[in-house]
Amino acid sequence: GQMLGFAAQELGHECRFLDPGANPPAAAAGTTVRADYADSAAVAALAAVCDVVTYEFENVPVDVLRAVEADCPVFPPPAALAHAQDRVTEKRLFERLDIPLAPYHPVQERADLDDAVASLGYPLVLKTRRFGYDGKGQAVIRDAAEADSAWAELGGRPLVAEAWVPFECEVSIIGTRSRDGDTVCWPLTENRHADGILRTSIAPAGVTGLEETARDYMDRLLRELDYVGVLALELFVSGGNLLANEFAPRVHNSGHWTIEGSTCSQFSNHVRAITGDALGRADCRGFAGMLNLIGQIPDGVREPADPRVRVHDYGKAPRPGRKLGHVTVVTDDAAARDALLGHYGRIVTESAP
Ligand code: AMP
Repeated sequence: GQMLGFAAQELGHECRFLDPGANPPAAAAGTTVRADYADSAAVAALAAVCDVVTYEFENVPVDVLRAVEADCPVFPPPAALAHAQDRVTEKRLFERLDIPLAPYHPVQERADLDDAVASLGYPLVLKTRRFGYDGKGQAVIRDAAEADSAWAELGGRPLVAEAWVPFECEVSIIGTRSRDGDTVCWPLTENRHADGILRTSIAPAGVTGLEETARDYMDRLLRELDYVGVLALELFVSGGNLLANEFAPRVHNSGHWTIEGSTCSQFSNHVRAITGDALGRADCRGFAGMLNLIGQIPDGVREPADPRVRVHDYGKAPRPGRKLGHVTVVTDDAAARDALLGHYGRIVTESAP
């Protein structure tokens, strides 16, 4: 929200934010209202003084957005959010669009999990259909005992079992579609996760030959959803092919590098798209890398002397597992980028509590 607000300010817009938390980072970029995302009266009051409404949090109730849509445009379209909020609906959309994905099996009852094991085999990943993020609400199952413990932890909610994907790496493609239907995509970004949380991204991705296919999948999604704004599609690279994991109808952590690393950032293009402006160039200036600062911001990364390095501190209260900021590096060659990312990565690892 803060980064969208800064981008909007640069484009001459004024922002109002709704956030349920105390001291929201977005307060640095505009007026904030403290209210729950499900508070339809508060959202309607916000929309009443705005020309356009957007969101960058995936658990905003779709009904609340649909209710304000009659009076104020809401982008990305709430239908896109509805697809992204339910992993099974999302997977059915991928299937409809011929975007390959790992085999899966919806799980409601304990017996469905046995069926999933029979059809998918071990290992598999059991995930909640809704409200999962950063690896929360999911468990890897390698044998019958783990099936029991995963069920004990997650059972009772709508779930989905996915075949384990033996991936070479993970990538994301981030695209923007304007109100006129123009689209741009940033170069494929390669992402490393640990414990289900994004740790680093590099762009352009180290894998080659997959850019065109990823852009094609992105185009299909943007067109099908009659999309406006930024959308991120996360993919596995497995056996040299792309398999869709999930999409996010919002600006995305794996696109944070675009602030310094591209002519136009994902935040700026999102604002341009939703306000009806022409889109900016989604290129990569040299070689970009992003390192998330999770749980703490070590002193050693705070004021980098190297002009190729920028540190973003979101001003959030530290909490284990919370994304508090990120480091971006932009260099003229891939080796220098990787060395800088490695350097800052070591500082982060060594100062972890
Ligand atoms: P998700 O919340 O679905 O994005 O999952 C978080 C991370 O867990 C992914 O980025 C992968 O690193 C890992 N993961 C999720 N699903 C699978 C799968 N089916 N096979 C292998 N790894 C997975």
